[in-house]
Amino acid sequence: MPAHAPADHNTGWVLKVAALATLAFFGAELACGYYARSLALIGDAWHNFSDALALFVTWFAFQAQARAPSRHRTYGYHRAGVLAAFVAGLLVLGPAGWLFYRGAQRLLAPGQPDFRIMLALGAAGVVLNAVVSVALRRAARGEQCPPRVFLHMAGDALAGLGILLAALLIRIWGLRAADPLLGLLIAGLVVWTVWDVMVESLDILLEGLPRGLELEQVEAAIRSVPRVQDVHDLHIWSLGVGAQAFTCHVRIPPLPFADGEAILDQVNALLERRFRIRHVTVQLECQECEAVNGCHIPGAR
Ligand SMILES: [Zn+2]
Ligand SMILES: [Zn+2]
Ligand SMILES: [Zn+2]
Repeated sequence: MPAHAPADHNTGWVLKVAALATLAFFGAELACGYYARSLALIGDAWHNFSDALALFVTWFAFQAQARAPSRHRTYGYHRAGVLAAFVAGLLVLGPAGWLFYRGAQRLLAPGQPDFRIMLALGAAGVVLNAVVSVALRRAARGEQCPPRVFLHMAGDALAGLGILLAALLIRIWGLRAADPLLGLLIAGLVVWTVWDVMVESLDILLEGLPRGLELEQVEAAIRSVPRVQDVHDLHIWSLGVGAQAFTCHVRIPPLPFADGEAILDQVNALLERRFRIRHVTVQLECQECEAVNGCHIPGAR
């Protein structure tokens, strides 16, 4: 799931076309899978469905992130893409569950899949995935591709090769169980991919600590700024993928306002430099406040 490509016009176009091509292949593969009675093909069809959804979601997230904040949605639309990714994940879990169920059934009583259709669709899948990967990589030139996208692309290529291999196993050695076995493997690949994205989306939607940050480290870093006496009511959350927000209270000695502002500048610079947090709100205090021992959000203790 390429979640970090640049939001230029060309990328949006490539994403849309790739999503439509993948969706069309999903339809063709699903129909052929039923016709050929091959669970591997049906499984790979649903896998392509989830990939098409992921491409649509990525395209949609670009559009949403590019929209300016409004008076009503002052943070902008970072989370629209996150919400869409979560819903897309839910949509894929249903077919995956069905695949596990049918895969177990067919393992016990393998059918007789048509290996010629499997060979044709497996080859077409390898070609389509190769074209889409190359197009996306060209569109995202200069941007770092997240490792999980590469892993997923490798998984896609393996799924296509797996279908070719299963077709040959069925043709040469009559190993009919290869078909449901591959169907189960592909269902596993789909769930593994979707699960990671859903957990990350849920973390963002529930305003969890952004990935890769340690609350204690951030707190200790702020305490290390000279003349900072205490840090409390610290909140860090994600507005969307790669966009963090931060609030906390910092207690300092009674100082002229300009000195307080110098401390504030240091805290801001530190947060940006060490943790890449840019949307920062700090409340400076000279006396102990009521939130020292906990947060003031109702019910949060
Ligand atoms: Zn895939
Ligand atoms: Zn306070
Ligand atoms: Zn609080």
